[in-house]
Amino acid sequence: MSLYLVATPIGNLGDLSQRAIETLQNVSEILCEDTRHSKKLLSHFEIKTPCTSFHSHTGPAKIEKLLTRLKQGEDLALISDAGTPGISDPAWALLKPAVDTGVNIVPIPGPAAFLAALMGSGLPMNEFTYHGFIPAKKGRQTLFTSLLESKRTVVFYESPHRIQKTLSQMLEILGEERKVVIARELTKLHESFHRGTLKELKEEFDGEKPKGEIVLLVAPANF
Ligand code: SAM
Repeated sequence: MSLYLVATPIGNLGDLSQRAIETLQNVSEILCEDTRHSKKLLSHFEIKTPCTSFHSHTGPAKIEKLLTRLKQGEDLALISDAGTPGISDPAWALLKPAVDTGVNIVPIPGPAAFLAALMGSGLPMNEFTYHGFIPAKKGRQTLFTSLLESKRTVVFYESPHRIQKTLSQMLEILGEERKVVIARELTKLHESFHRGTLKELKEEFDGEKPKGEIVLLVAPANF
């Protein structure tokens, strides 16, 4: 009957809400981006609901079956490896056809890395743009150039392996003085915020071993 989109922790298990736990206990099946990964979370909370996988390679036949089950009256929950389903993960591939075919959608809100990063960044957050992952190869220069006159904070997900390259390229295009924040390992033991100009953060991260999960925020041009 309903598709529950359930946000799960991005590191700290204490962030799973009571409503999320109850929902995951009460649905007939949980669709997980990676069942092995989510089993750890579910067993920690003694949630015994059966799981099946739903990931970026899930094909149209399985999507069709899930939609049929929902329309026949089943309640299903969808979770991703971490955070809010649909934010830079495969949930959209089910959410879109579910909405289009009239399935009732119930969001169970909770953690999202971009929001936790914004909250701790100290950058303007009344207006912001969430941009998802920075492309690994093509389109980087055009993307960074589009930030030159930006009036809003812009939030990106970035791989720790590319962060030095990204800071260097941004510095060339946006200049040494543009303010940025790197939020690393949010809600985890080694959570840290690195705030400064592109010049300062490039120096700080040069020669550092890539580590941890990263959100990169670029301040508005006039900040
Ligand atoms: N659905 C997730 C959300 O709501 O934020 C995002 C999933 S996306 C596949 C994974 C990316 O999110 C990571 O590569 C990283 O950029 C960011 N991320 C996830 N957890 C994080 C954390 N604890 N600290 C910093 N960034 C994190």
